[in-house]
Amino acid sequence: MTVIDLQIKAELLNVTGLVPDESETAYDWHLKTRCSGCNEVTANFVTVNDVETSKISGSRGDANLVMRCKFCKREASVGIVGKPAAYTAEHSGKFATVVSFECRGLEPVEFEPRDGWAAQGAESKTRFAVDLTEGEWYDYDERASLEVSITEIEHRFERGKGPAKGAK
Ligand SMILES: [Zn+2]
Repeated sequence: MTVIDLQIKAELLNVTGLVPDESETAYDWHLKTRCSGCNEVTANFVTVNDVETSKISGSRGDANLVMRCKFCKREASVGIVGKPAAYTAEHSGKFATVVSFECRGLEPVEFEPRDGWAAQGAESKTRFAVDLTEGEWYDYDERASLEVSITEIEHRFERGKGPAKGAK
């Protein structure tokens, strides 16, 4: 079992607290994964969220996503560790971990943030629904009379130091 941290980097203008909005529905993390057995990468994005779970074969418990490699048929699984961490104004321009995955038999190699994020005005605390599908987001904070934006979004996967368990 390997813990992989998904880190993002972005330029935040007058907003902070970028995090998946899970107030109503679970956020789907869209990932492409590489099989540890045969090194093939999934052709399409797979989704994992922390509400759905499936059984891992051989009574090894369950995970948020259990899948079988289309090429070598090896089973692999992904579990979300804890709750996502908000990307704040202090992180702006630097990489920070937003979520950690417990991976067995695969590694995530691609990520698309898509829709379903939230952020708030840095000073005004105005709540914004944020759609990152286009890779950047612009809005206007009426209360603060300021342009707000999230741009230059990048991501990377890092081997985690182990789960900071607790929230789950
Ligand atoms: Zn495989």
